[in-house]
Amino acid sequence: MSAGLVQAAYIVAALFFIMSLAGLSKQESARNGNYYGIAGMTIALIATIFSPDAQGFAWIIVAMVIGAAIGIFYAKKVEMTEMPELVAILHSFVGLAAVLVGYNSYIDPPAIPNIETLAEAEVHAHHVIHLVEVFLGVFIGAVTFTGSIVAFGKLRGVISSSPLSIPHKHKWNLAAVVVSTLLMIYFVKADGSMFALLVMTAIALVFGYHLVASIGGADMPVVVSMLNSYSGWAAAAAGFMLSNDLLIVTGALVGSSGAILSYIMCKAMNRSFISVIAGGFGQEVVISSDEEQGEHRETSAEEVAEMLKNSKSVIITPGYGMAVAQAQYPVHEITEKLRAQGVEVRFGIHPVAGRLPGHMNVLLAEAKVPYDIVLEMDELNDDFGDTDTVLVIGANDTVNPAALEDPNSPIAGMPVLEVWNAQNVIVFKRSMNTGYAGVQNPLFFKENTSMLFGDAKDSVDAISKAL
Ligand code: NDP
Repeated sequence: MSAGLVQAAYIVAALFFIMSLAGLSKQESARNGNYYGIAGMTIALIATIFSPDAQGFAWIIVAMVIGAAIGIFYAKKVEMTEMPELVAILHSFVGLAAVLVGYNSYIDPPAIPNIETLAEAEVHAHHVIHLVEVFLGVFIGAVTFTGSIVAFGKLRGVISSSPLSIPHKHKWNLAAVVVSTLLMIYFVKADGSMFALLVMTAIALVFGYHLVASIGGADMPVVVSMLNSYSGWAAAAAGFMLSNDLLIVTGALVGSSGAILSYIMCKAMNRSFISVIAGGFGQEVVISSDEEQGEHRETSAEEVAEMLKNSKSVIITPGYGMAVAQAQYPVHEITEKLRAQGVEVRFGIHPVAGRLPGHMNVLLAEAKVPYDIVLEMDELNDDFGDTDTVLVIGANDTVNPAALEDPNSPIAGMPVLEVWNAQNVIVFKRSMNTGYAGVQNPLFFKENTSMLFGDAKDSVDAISKAL
């Protein structure tokens, strides 16, 4: 393949990636968005493998076969609920790749094109730019690498989800950035010092660890999308080092879309973007005591079925428990049964319900729930007052009134689905346990709330039968 053809293929691939992002922004077009992404990546891979610069064809194929086999194995095995963990660990690979590309490019710098036609000052400028690229690429890559591993550990539950709070944490973070900047100046002045590069790598690895370890569990969605953004910038840095335009464009697309998503999520959770980036959540929070909240009431599937039949309007607010129980199919079943009896049924989706953005939308789409009755929190939060019955299926933090009523709560300020304004609220869960953020939920003790204990799928199945 000629160099010109490779560039043309890269432009086409980049366009496919942009179309992919556009497609993924709406449920109806998300499937096509994925296809565009696959097409773009196929074109990119073929163009890269057959480009005139590519060497070691056999090695590339061997690496791709091994990588693809591992990828296919895990993609088939992974549960929907484990998806954020998978995403987090994949980000760590991007970070590690950027570190390795950086070291490789430092040890074996790429030839400067047309060097014989350049003046000495221009060659020097090329060299300085290359050193800065190496330094920044390794820094971003190392932060992404350890940060993503910590995010993976927190989501998996192998690392505590409560925020790490060492004294003067912000000063340590600031010191890491300042020392790394000074090391970069030294690295460039010394014409590439391996010592400076190694010290900075160690600092960046610890910095990445600390950055994510300092963030509390309830803010993990923002962290995952922030790391998504970092991994994009790490890939863009690798693109600069490898002089690969497509990698730069793709990295920038991932980096900026991750940053935009983080911003949108911060707004949805009423958090400041800067404090997420600084890894500073949660440390000033006074954890609410587990004081006696009062009595809770229990109900049965038959009673709930009766209540639903007598309702005019019903809102279902699903959460992580619906995903665990795989209750979306019977939920669709009761939705259809109620709609056939003239009951208005809608779904209220909190932006961070479940364990990844869009988690609930994917599950409901899988069960073929019509898109037009699945609404965002902001679209129906004012309607709960006129609603007869709300079914809270496996949701907890996202329907917790403490977020609005208790300024000391770890989730204070997070907008929530105001389900308690409805006439009746039924909460489907297995026990009185807390949700992801580990906070008690006063909703369970309100007068208009009844608990339906048990696995959500079994409970919804029983209601469906009774209907
Ligand atoms: P929560 O995690 O707050 O609560 C889920 C509830 O589901 C639990 O209280 C649990 O109670 C119940 N549950 C679990 N399994 C079952 C089952 N088989 N049957 C019935 N109930 C079950 O869920 P939400 O969706 O309300 O909130 C999401 C939380 O996750 C937020 O704190 C959010 O910040 C965080 N998060 C969100 C991410 C995202 O991007 N969406 C990513 C990472 C974290 P019990 O054990 O008693 O059954």
